[in-house]
Amino acid sequence: FKLKEDDFQFICELGTGAGGTVHKVLHTPTNRIMAKKVIGFILGGDENEREKSEKGILRELKVLRSCESQYIVEFYGAFSNIGDISICMEYIDLGSFDKILKKLGTIPEDIVAKITVSVLKGLKYLYDEKNIVHRDIKPSNILLNSKGEVKIADFGVSKEIVNGTMARTFTGTQGYLAPERVCEGRIHSIESDIWSVGLTMMELATGRFPFPPEGHAPLPSILDLLKYIEMEPAPSLPTGKFSKNFENFVSRCLIKDPDQRPKPKDLLNDSFCIRVENESLAQWADDIKSNFIFSQDCGLPNQNKVVVDQA
Ligand code: ADP
Ligand code: MG
Repeated sequence: FKLKEDDFQFICELGTGAGGTVHKVLHTPTNRIMAKKVIGFILGGDENEREKSEKGILRELKVLRSCESQYIVEFYGAFSNIGDISICMEYIDLGSFDKILKKLGTIPEDIVAKITVSVLKGLKYLYDEKNIVHRDIKPSNILLNSKGEVKIADFGVSKEIVNGTMARTFTGTQGYLAPERVCEGRIHSIESDIWSVGLTMMELATGRFPFPPEGHAPLPSILDLLKYIEMEPAPSLPTGKFSKNFENFVSRCLIKDPDQRPKPKDLLNDSFCIRVENESLAQWADDIKSNFIFSQDCGLPNQNKVVVDQA
């Protein structure tokens, strides 16, 4: 099915990030609710260059259509529209973990372990089956639906999208970069994704981005942060608050030398993951759904946008 702008009806805004703005939309020909992300492009003034680059990105994005995994947000298609690119994907009703974390403050360790298993399985699928590394693992790119399924979104298949958006806003995402990515030279590898998994799971459990470590002076600029990541020891979970299993798991993800860092399949065999393998998040997701009003659960098309203050 060829996706085009005219076929979408706006329902509400789901969020804005470094990558662009995401809307909940109705695709009228198929009567399907989708999440549609619009990425604006600034790639220099040359029209031809821009068009060539848009075509290239759309071609690269085609790979995503063949991705089929319960751990990956489904990709429906993409199209360009005067200087920007729209990416249409599965709508995930409870949203992303950055927002869930904001509501909850912290997420219990056993739940974090379950999230970890899904993320690792998603990364393993992308890597083994599609030869794709994610490049942008962080809480806002991990989503939860009301069945309790955890899925990852926004894999950087297209370097140009990553570069394009990073040039636009020089904040945010970079804190999750692995040390070998900070000091350039290395291209992004599956090991760099594992570093980001370690930081993300720490953040979900403690409610706090791990840099700078508690008690350390603030890192006022992004350059200070990047220097810290490169030069200083990796962060670790506060002792005594979590299981030894979890402490150990995080320290494996945050081994500074990427060659020593484990792969998804190694980590899936870590006792932190094995322990929760047969657990389900269905009940937990159900509780979240009934205890919170979701601003993105904004009803049927044509209804007024309802934004509920979640504070
Ligand atoms: P970021 O990931 O940096 O927050 P994005 O532009 O990728 O920026 O996404 C903005 C927000 O939109 C996310 O934080 C998330 O809450 C929401 N979002 C993204 N994709 C989806 C989706 N498929 N379903 C539901 N919500 C989504
Ligand atoms: Mg995102």
